[in-house]
Amino acid sequence: MIRQLTVLGSTGSIGQSTLDVVRRHPQKYRVFALSAARSVEQMLQDIVEFSPVYAVMAESQAAAELLGRLPSGCATEVLTGADALAMIASHEAVDQVMAAIVGAAGLLPTLAAAESGKRVLLANKESLVMAGPLFMQAVRQGGAELLPIDSEHNAIFQSLPQHYDGDFARCGISRILLTASGGPFRGRRLAQLQDVTPAQAVAHPNWSMGQKISVDSATLMNKGLELIEACFLFNCQPDQIQVVVHPQSVIHSMVQYTDGSVIAQLGQPDMRTPIAYGMAWPERIDSGVRELDLFTIATLSFERPDSSTFPCLALAGEAFRAGGTMPAVLNAANEIAVEAFLREQIPFTGIPSVIARVMKKHEVQPVTALAQILAADAWARQAAEALIQQPSDGSSENLG
Ligand code: NAD
Ligand code: MG
Repeated sequence: MIRQLTVLGSTGSIGQSTLDVVRRHPQKYRVFALSAARSVEQMLQDIVEFSPVYAVMAESQAAAELLGRLPSGCATEVLTGADALAMIASHEAVDQVMAAIVGAAGLLPTLAAAESGKRVLLANKESLVMAGPLFMQAVRQGGAELLPIDSEHNAIFQSLPQHYDGDFARCGISRILLTASGGPFRGRRLAQLQDVTPAQAVAHPNWSMGQKISVDSATLMNKGLELIEACFLFNCQPDQIQVVVHPQSVIHSMVQYTDGSVIAQLGQPDMRTPIAYGMAWPERIDSGVRELDLFTIATLSFERPDSSTFPCLALAGEAFRAGGTMPAVLNAANEIAVEAFLREQIPFTGIPSVIARVMKKHEVQPVTALAQILAADAWARQAAEALIQQPSDGSSENLG
């Protein structure tokens, strides 16, 4: 049976890796729909190669340009807007949805895929961070299959008992060991982070990724978001997860059991492995990733995270414990702060201080409806923008 796939965020790093796996298995997968924000050039190329039924551009101008440039005879229908994104994520012809839009923009279509019972290949960790309990409820109610694509969570999924039911004690699990590369600034002191540039921050030592997640890796917010992601995915608390800095990025995470066993998943730092795993599960298919050569790697090392130099990890733990609307606030403030850093409006060290200050201002609400998440997200964006725009409000000279 050919499985029909929608790729949300198809022109990005995860989207392109997904298409590369599809390319290797034309008998198994067919691209039903592609979507992107504005990369017309890449979209055009992928439409020609994969002939999707739909291509959705988030920006209407990009959609118009794409439409004008489609080769004659091309049957792909070009659409734009939030409804179109939700439609391609929930269409009855679709079996699997790769959720690889970056940031909060991924929430609604990813949720639509969960509600309509698709296999959700979750790369867009921000949607789970923002709306964890509602998202997991949508998965259960919609009868969706949630397969984590984030390499760490994919590794944890592979290392858990096959029929893990969310109960650590019953499964003899003592804790999750969530690995982190430490990012490009591992080992630096706070004073050495003041002047780092966006170009330095996005130069990840092991992984090639989109800009936003690369900055998140440099601040350790990526690990913070992943901590929250793991708590929701695997039904546990932050104190059941130990973050382990492992600079080689060969072990992608581990599960420690009460009998003393530690089960790990190892591999190249290449996202095609977790992507292929999620697409084919419970089978395995060729992903195009070259074999791991342990003799070349020779050494694996481990350190504790430096949470005083990189406060984002602790902020994320705090947001999860506060619960309700707080994780959505953490995520939104982070998105705004990262954009401001990339525009060189705030220093690198301004990122955690913007987030901490927005969280401090926020009055947490218990969440019963999606509208509350969207409102908290909008509030936090405004609050973060205000802090960034008005560096003279007394306390904000220490934005760095
Ligand atoms: P990227 O920036 O390379 O790609 C993002 C994609 O989303 C692009 O196709 C872009 O056009 C699309 N997009 C952006 N804004 C949009 C909007 N408003 N509406 C619709 N589409 C929009 O990012 P990436 O590195 O591929 O990461 C994608 C997601 O996967 C992120 O949530 C990231 O945290 C997660 N992730 C990435 C990696 C990785 O190795 N790159 C690993 C783990 C998790
Ligand atoms: Mg990851």
